[in-house]
Amino acid sequence: MATAGKVIKCKAAVAWEAGKPLSIEEVEVAPPQAMEVRVKILFTALCHTDVYFWEAKTPVFPRIFGHEAGGIIESVGEGVTDVAPGDHVLPVFTGECKECAHCKSAESNMCDLLRINTDRGVMIGDGKSRFSINGKPIYHFVGTSTFSEYTVMHVGCVAKINPEAPLDKVCVLSCGISTGLGASINVAKPPKGSTVAIFGLGAVGLAAAEGARIAGASRIIGVDLNPSRFEEARKFGCTEFVNPKDHKKPVQQVLAEMTNGGVDRSVECTGNINAMVQAFECVHDGWGVAVLVGVPHKDAEFKTNPMNFLNERTLKGTFFGNYKPRTDLPNVVELYMKKELEVEKFITHSVPFAEINKAFDLMAKGEGIRCIIRMEN
Ligand code: NAD
Ligand code: ZN
Repeated sequence: MATAGKVIKCKAAVAWEAGKPLSIEEVEVAPPQAMEVRVKILFTALCHTDVYFWEAKTPVFPRIFGHEAGGIIESVGEGVTDVAPGDHVLPVFTGECKECAHCKSAESNMCDLLRINTDRGVMIGDGKSRFSINGKPIYHFVGTSTFSEYTVMHVGCVAKINPEAPLDKVCVLSCGISTGLGASINVAKPPKGSTVAIFGLGAVGLAAAEGARIAGASRIIGVDLNPSRFEEARKFGCTEFVNPKDHKKPVQQVLAEMTNGGVDRSVECTGNINAMVQAFECVHDGWGVAVLVGVPHKDAEFKTNPMNFLNERTLKGTFFGNYKPRTDLPNVVELYMKKELEVEKFITHSVPFAEINKAFDLMAKGEGIRCIIRMEN
């Protein structure tokens, strides 16, 4: 590429201050350094984590948010051998160095080197930002910063995927959808014909329902305080619904009565501590497994009677659905290519890059599931 090794001037949506609408600016994007790649982003989507850190008054501003996306490698830095210019990639907010104890363990995806870090706004290689405006640094977000026409990432945070996969669709697999899907398929592992409860029917919960369906669960009970989520959830395999507000009894008891003693599996996708406890206590004794996915309030504490464990209930948690980004994400894309996974139904809106703030408005109103932001038109 003619741009390799040079600074690229392009458009990026910059968050100058917490909670203020993003503004489209011309930024300079430095070339990738050792073990880094520069990616031309074609499609990106807005996820709750972006909104959470955009609203939070952290010291890391001005900043370029965005982590759910799809793009093409423009150039690579020294030492990069896994990907080359022209490769299609999905950026991931957590990485896989392939060398640490976690990356070498078949059970973990919590890479020591590239695990998500929301406080860091610079590259790990040299502690500097690759984005600037008039020489002043603009900070990165979770190593991805996809709200920019070009971004620089560590090579361990990009998953090389099938170039035939449509990036405007599979970009949503780079975060929330894979998280929910993997929480069911890789962690809860519902046996065929089992009953699964999904707490929270946002993008992550709907993907968890889809994962339970793919795994062969026959009853999928959606639990949400917002009944407007129920109609949509049918498309993702939910067969029944419970709104805890409709019952005087604790929801654990309601679910136990519906299922002859408890559900076989539950997946919590709310971030609410009460829902986490309920999701654990509603699983059947003897074999039930509950999986926590939602990110709790920083001061939250999980309280339950230890007898619930002695009675052979299992509680687990997962991060990015236990997928190793570089090793496993290409296979999730293949599930879509083989038509075993539908991603279109997660994409409810689409806006051009210039109108990125509309995606924030939609999320604030709780409308739809995913809004795709088109970088080129
Ligand atoms: P969302 O806000 O779109 O959906 C959450 C849903 O939960 C909403 O429909 C809401 O009505 C419902 N809800 C809230 N409190 C509830 C309660 N007490 N009982 C029942 N339902 C309740 O969020 P999302 O984008 O789908 O994300 C879900 C959670 O997953 C968030 O906490 C997010 O931070 C987390 N997350 C975790 C990972 C991970 O790797 N572990 C990755 C991505 C997102
Ligand atoms: Zn690692």
